[in-house]
Amino acid sequence: LSKLTPRPADLLIKEALLPSGEQADVTVEAGRIAVIGAPNRAVSDAAATIDASGMLLLPGLCNAHLHSMEMPLRGVVWGLPMELYRVCIAPLGMGTKISPEDVYARTRAAALEMLRNGTTMVVDDVVHESLEAEYVDAVLQAYADVGMRAMVTIHCEDRPWTESVPFLDDLVDAEAREWLTAVGTPSTESLLETCEAAVGRWSEHELVSCIPGPSAPHRCTPELLSGLKEISTGAGLAFHIHVQETLMQATGGPLMFGKSMVAWLDELGLLDRGTTIAHGVWLSEEDIEIVARTGTSVVHNPISNLKLGSGIAPVRRLLAAGVNVALGGDGYTCNDRQDMFEAIKLAALLSDVRSSDFEQWLAPEEVLEMATVNGARANLLDGLGLIEEGSPADLALVRLDPPEFHPLNDPLAQAVFAGDARHVDTVIVGGEVLVEGGRALRIDEQAAWAASAESATRFLEAAGPFLERMAGLMPAHREAYRRCVEILSRDPYWMDAAPVLSLDPSS
Ligand SMILES: [Zn+2]
Repeated sequence: LSKLTPRPADLLIKEALLPSGEQADVTVEAGRIAVIGAPNRAVSDAAATIDASGMLLLPGLCNAHLHSMEMPLRGVVWGLPMELYRVCIAPLGMGTKISPEDVYARTRAAALEMLRNGTTMVVDDVVHESLEAEYVDAVLQAYADVGMRAMVTIHCEDRPWTESVPFLDDLVDAEAREWLTAVGTPSTESLLETCEAAVGRWSEHELVSCIPGPSAPHRCTPELLSGLKEISTGAGLAFHIHVQETLMQATGGPLMFGKSMVAWLDELGLLDRGTTIAHGVWLSEEDIEIVARTGTSVVHNPISNLKLGSGIAPVRRLLAAGVNVALGGDGYTCNDRQDMFEAIKLAALLSDVRSSDFEQWLAPEEVLEMATVNGARANLLDGLGLIEEGSPADLALVRLDPPEFHPLNDPLAQAVFAGDARHVDTVIVGGEVLVEGGRALRIDEQAAWAASAESATRFLEAAGPFLERMAGLMPAHREAYRRCVEILSRDPYWMDAAPVLSLDPSS
């Protein structure tokens, strides 16, 4: 611990317990951690003081993969694998138009929920209702108003829906194919223009930025992928894309590109230090080698991967190969609770069933790093997500008086294995205290929840006819799924990746 030199500070956090087990006073100046010092050598003239005795100080948590637009459908979908589940949430951004004000209300509620749960930074991959600037900006403005650090994508796909799912194109009739393409496939040019403009509009904001977010290799043309990568590289921003999340995508790579999707992206020159792949559940040894060699980050989304039966990502093998692995919650329909403590616990526990070699299981410190500093690093925000002098003061204080911390043997391990978002007392972003005593300070929470509930009602009304039409296409999607499973069970070339799944199509 440094010597605490008495000088004016913006904020003094008194007598907090650090993850290392030491107690400290922490001062914040100009949005950054200034001094981490021995307790009770307090600066008397700090502008504000937080009594953090009996609380654990953690770096603010980073949810490195979210889809906030799914919030109105929370709790609606379950019991389906990703490609079939997607049919049930398709109106998001495809056939449903609500107002920018409703988009704002929905996003603000998501931001508030996450913030109260100790999440200070998020990558929100948004399928926007419209590519018009007011819709895109409504999302970014909501984060800016809540005061959270956010990277918001414009989720892009320019391949027709039926071509992005193996076999589906042959299984639907011409009318359905045309309808899906008309509602869900904007032009490559319009996506690139929208993205470039939004990146530019938000380039100067301190906490919030827009980043390119192509949906997935099988849902985008190479022109779109390369164009978006150019935009992100030019602006020094992250590039966020779903890759090899599911069984069908494991099949889809070789069927569509003659190689895995990771190898395809590498061939296009799209994998590097600025690229993050969401999921990476089905990765072969060769894929892991490519991801490691290119410096690509991976976001592990354990809850979503369980709810959609996608499998369990090979996190230890990625970490051992030197890959930066972050942690995400994923969308509100595949993870109905945006509580990073739940994701942290599951990431830790799931590693135990991926390998019988118990020495390879994830340690609490490693999972906490995934949920903090690794998420920042994946988004080129090095230095964030640490409790170090000079780091941005993005912090969360966790109460240690709940029963889960009794007796207090190992605060860090207990936060990982017994932690809960409800234990979060105080949340600070860039030095500003945004949550204190579990309540948001900047935003009228009741008004925010009410506005969000109203926007959800309007969304569900607008989505009804679209959902009904999509439901009619479910049998074709089921058959496409069955065929993919059958291929893999006959020729399980992918089985060295072996996520825990039965490949027996009859089961
Ligand atoms: Zn996702």
